[in-house]
Amino acid sequence: MERPSREVIQENRDYTLFSWSVQSTSNPIHMTRAQGVWFWDGDGNKWLDLNAQLINMNVGHQHPKVLEAIKKQVDELCFAGPNFATEPRGRLGKKLAEVTGLAKSFFTLGGAEANENAMKIARLYTGRDKIITRYRSYHGATMGAMTASGDPRRWPVEPGIPGIVRVFDPYCYRCPFGKTVDSCGRECVSHIEEVIQLEGPHTIAAIMVEGITGSNGVLVPPDDYYPRLRALCDKYGILLITDEVMSGFGRTGKWLSTQHYGIKPDIVTCAKGLTSGYMPLGAVIVSAPIAEYFEKNMLWGGLTYSGHPVSCAAALANLEVYEEEQIFENTEIQGRYLAERLEAMRKYACVGDVRYKGLFSVIELVRNKATKEPLAPYNGTSPEMQRLAAYLKSKHIYVMTRFHMLWVCPPLVINREELKYGLDVIEEALAQVDQMLGM
Ligand code: PLP
Repeated sequence: MERPSREVIQENRDYTLFSWSVQSTSNPIHMTRAQGVWFWDGDGNKWLDLNAQLINMNVGHQHPKVLEAIKKQVDELCFAGPNFATEPRGRLGKKLAEVTGLAKSFFTLGGAEANENAMKIARLYTGRDKIITRYRSYHGATMGAMTASGDPRRWPVEPGIPGIVRVFDPYCYRCPFGKTVDSCGRECVSHIEEVIQLEGPHTIAAIMVEGITGSNGVLVPPDDYYPRLRALCDKYGILLITDEVMSGFGRTGKWLSTQHYGIKPDIVTCAKGLTSGYMPLGAVIVSAPIAEYFEKNMLWGGLTYSGHPVSCAAALANLEVYEEEQIFENTEIQGRYLAERLEAMRKYACVGDVRYKGLFSVIELVRNKATKEPLAPYNGTSPEMQRLAAYLKSKHIYVMTRFHMLWVCPPLVINREELKYGLDVIEEALAQVDQMLGM
């Protein structure tokens, strides 16, 4: 007999802690089942998952091929320690080398651990200490990854780890240098050179950036941003680490978001879309020279669950689904429709900007288009943003809202009809915000 949702939720709240929330205000949905882009709550409501959970369920919920691969691996060999060779671990490493053009993978359990280990590897390889990161970034909730992050989630852990130096972002809608993308000198890159000079180039191990910044607002960089950043790294012998935890594995229509810009990083970190969340797994994928370095030098790092066979088997099946079902092609096709619809939403007074690449997108909301005053303050909320979120919830559309932004990042298997349904409801919500603003 299924227990009433009320009881399940209460037990969860009584005995477990929920992330990033004041516990007394946490209001979890009781998820009972899910399929594709949909999930159901304990009251039988059907929700459209326009956020792919935490922007990770790229192949959608309950994909039979991934489920089957997990079951098969569990029966065959459920666990092997991190120093054992297994079939799925080797095959996954090879596949990741193929799709990224890099050499070897170190497996972790998720994104934060991948970034911790990427920073450690960069320090070991270069013999330098500092890591340059950007302000509008999130790299994970462990101590090092949290310090590397620029967004307010780092504040409570400060001072965190030493050696993190932050720079500004390619945030063209609110350019920190007061420029416009057509006429600027790409100060978002050139100021980093000044920071490098002031810090001492010989002290900087790596620049670590999200491939495309996700939870700080889908900041799609200008086309020449990455070639310039790559050149800057090469000039000073600094490694380029791209965190593709959110932007990688098809989210933008390619394996890595930097593949849109024709550059190769030295280290890529990934998680989320690597298994579409079916099993916990992250990876640090390193270039041939870095892999070669560790042929003769100790890799000072390890995790009991590194290379977990079930996680690796889930990842392999998930990557096969991407190819067999032409998921990235669907991302491109649906992404074009999403782009059209988002552009049309600029007609609402509260829509300041829309940004997108594939099925990675955000709507940035403002109180006033001319002044660009955000609809909620940085690290805060507002009655209008609360109304927007409440309306979407009441219609059982699952999205992420944060500060003054609304993300649209569905599973990559979404079809036109499903996407249209969700976007139509989002438009209703935007119209309500306009009304509240008296527009
Ligand atoms: N890096 C990026 C860009 C992320 O978006 C996230 C999570 O949202 C992480 C790292 C952390 O990943 P995890 O939650 O798996 O530790």
